[in-house]
Amino acid sequence: MSRDIPLPDPEITGPCVEVGPAVMYPVDGNYGPAREVCMRCPARDDCLEHALAVREPDGMWGGVDPPGRERIRRQRVLARTQPQGVLDVGWL
Ligand code: SF4
Repeated sequence: MSRDIPLPDPEITGPCVEVGPAVMYPVDGNYGPAREVCMRCPARDDCLEHALAVREPDGMWGGVDPPGRERIRRQRVLARTQPQGVLDVGWL
C-alpha cells in the first residue's frame, strides 16, 4: 500500500505499507486490525491531520476510521464557532 502523506521524516514508513489495502480499507467495516497497525506507527498524528485536512473519506488514517474522523472534524468546527467564554454545560 502506498500513501501520499506528509510524513515528519522521509525515513519513516508507516506499517500500513506492509499490510496492504485489504487491512487498511476493510470492505466488511472491521477497522480493528487497521487500528492496531496504526498504533505502531510513528507518523500517526501527521497522518491523521493529513486525512482531516483533505477530508479523506475512506480507510483507516492515523488510527481513526471514517466516522471517527467526521466526529473530530465536527468537534473542531464547533470549537471554532462557539463564542469565547461560553462553557458547554449540557446538563442545564
Ligand atoms: S498512521 Fe496508520 S495509515 Fe497512517 S501512515 Fe501510519 S500506519 Fe499508515
